[in-house]
Amino acid sequence: MSKVIIIGSGPAGVSASLYTARAGIETTIISTGYSALKKAEKIENYYGFEDPVSGSNLEESGINGAKRLGVNVIEKEVVGLSFEDTLVVKTVDEDLKADGVIIATGSPRFVPKITGITQFEGKGVSYCAVCDAFFYRGKDVAVLGDGEYAVHEALELLPVAKSVTILTNGKPAPENVDDNIIVNTQKINSLTGDERLSGVEFYDGSTLDIEGVFIAFGVAGSADLARKIGAITVGKDIQVDENMATNIPGLFAAGDCTGGLLQISKAVGEGAKAGTQLVKYLRK
Ligand SMILES: Cc1cc2nc3c(=O)[nH]c(=O)nc-3n(C[C@H](O)[C@H](O)[C@H](O)COP(=O)(O)OP(=O)(O)OC[C@H]3O[C@@H](n4cnc5c(N)ncnc54)[C@H](O)[C@@H]3O)c2cc1C
Repeated sequence: MSKVIIIGSGPAGVSASLYTARAGIETTIISTGYSALKKAEKIENYYGFEDPVSGSNLEESGINGAKRLGVNVIEKEVVGLSFEDTLVVKTVDEDLKADGVIIATGSPRFVPKITGITQFEGKGVSYCAVCDAFFYRGKDVAVLGDGEYAVHEALELLPVAKSVTILTNGKPAPENVDDNIIVNTQKINSLTGDERLSGVEFYDGSTLDIEGVFIAFGVAGSADLARKIGAITVGKDIQVDENMATNIPGLFAAGDCTGGLLQISKAVGEGAKAGTQLVKYLRK
């Protein structure tokens, strides 16, 4: 039986799962559980509710409805996506194979406001270790972040870089860090350099020489996951065709992560389309 993994349990991911599960396809939703929908206090512009409904109630009913149809919902963080003779979704502690994947991870994750990040994008600042590690072989690099995703990116860099430092920018050090990875918890003032990034300056005036900084705050966002597998992104949005398909066979995307109108109705509609089109793709 075909297996589908949907990343995200917001309106887009859950809507997609209703179509794949009802088509008899083994469907698993993987989600951290923190969605935009949960933050919406009162919704009064979505079809079918006489009175305003809270985002968390709407989300809970959606997930329960999917579970009733047999969808397996797992609370876990996805840190990577790859193609190894089949699609592989990498979570914090295991790799899961799938015949089809839908990215429904909402709009992008937080990028810290540190002077120099935008200036050095593509000139030492990267958002994807697996894509860019090769360019930093033998060099001193850093990962900006403080969670599981930052640790995962640091481990990707470790075999190729001269040294890898996790910079938490004032946050506590993450747990379970490999002994070969340095952790620096100082607050960052700016990224420095001329044409290219060459270092980091901390608030106390001290500096660290590095040639690459990989941004990995929070959890991997939609564009991060897309880039890791070579799916085309336009800025922070995943590029899809009229069937919600990306350029990678079997990989679809839906909801806020494809850009445009960031509303529940659009996420639900795109989820339905991605789900039905993925079913068609798997039956071919
Ligand atoms: C404060 C606020 C109020 C809003 N009010 C309204 C409103 O009144 N009406 C309206 O129509 N819209 C409203 N919205 C917008 C609406 O919530 C979004 O458009 C909608 O939730 C998008 O759905 P989605 O499924 O694309 O993404 P989301 O709802 O953001 O869901 C994304 C899912 O992906 C998961 N995820 C992300 N990254 C990972 C990862 N690396 N690993 C595993 N899981 C991951 C998250 O846990 C989550 O389950 C509001 C949004 C906010 C923030």
